[in-house]
Amino acid sequence: MLKKATRLYFFIAIIVAISAVTFWRISVNMSANKANSLNAVQSNEKVPKAEQLNLEEENGYIKCTIQRAVLWVEKDYLNDDEIKEMADRIDKGINKAEEYIGIKLDEQYTIDNKIHYYIKDGNFRSYAEAEKGIAHLSHAKDKLSPYIHEAIHIIAKDWYATWLHEGLAVHLNDRLEGWPSYPNFGTDVDELSRNYINGEFDNILKLVGDNTFISGFGSEKERMAFYILSGSFVRFLDNNLGTDQLMKIYAAEDPIAEIQSATGKSMEEWKKMWIDGLLK
Ligand SMILES: [Zn+2]
Repeated sequence: MLKKATRLYFFIAIIVAISAVTFWRISVNMSANKANSLNAVQSNEKVPKAEQLNLEEENGYIKCTIQRAVLWVEKDYLNDDEIKEMADRIDKGINKAEEYIGIKLDEQYTIDNKIHYYIKDGNFRSYAEAEKGIAHLSHAKDKLSPYIHEAIHIIAKDWYATWLHEGLAVHLNDRLEGWPSYPNFGTDVDELSRNYINGEFDNILKLVGDNTFISGFGSEKERMAFYILSGSFVRFLDNNLGTDQLMKIYAAEDPIAEIQSATGKSMEEWKKMWIDGLLK
């Protein structure tokens, strides 16, 4: 009997010991897991977004799908952190642009209601295909891509006068804090505009405020002058009329008639006030 009881106690003691060890191991594991998941939560804010981005390779591009856009980055052009920074800026930039001008990206003219950016190496001029919701960007490596400028072309796709079309994109690239880009690369457009009001660029100045659609320029110098002057005049109107009024003039088939009826002043009068202000 005693022997049996001793064996039984011994057996129970072993079972208890095994259970204790198992329980201890489970609890250690649990707290380790808890610590791990806490770490994950805490470090989430600090972890560079690159680790959260879903990057796939497709047709020689790295495809990065974000909330408001799809970035197609030429393979071996940008590293993950550079893609991450761009993705972040583009998502914020599109939201800010929509909010500022009061127009939403038109689903009809986009793929999956996102702007598709093709980001490539090479010294080409960035441009947008507004009716397809596509933008082509250069100089991303140098952080000089006009991703807001091109987004504005795609979002505010209904326009008639070229100076309003380019002027709005140039002005908002600065106001919405895009990367420094063509044509002013971060320099104040008003400051640069003063250089063009000297007689030499009168043929260009004449086009700013006009209802003309412009398909090309005589020289790169003239193009740059036109973009800078247009950006400055649009900025002046935005500051003085407000963005709602500006956007009505922007979308009007006859901006000269629209500004007259909306403000009681002619385009020429507004233009004179703008130039007088620059030369003060
Ligand atoms: Zn443009």
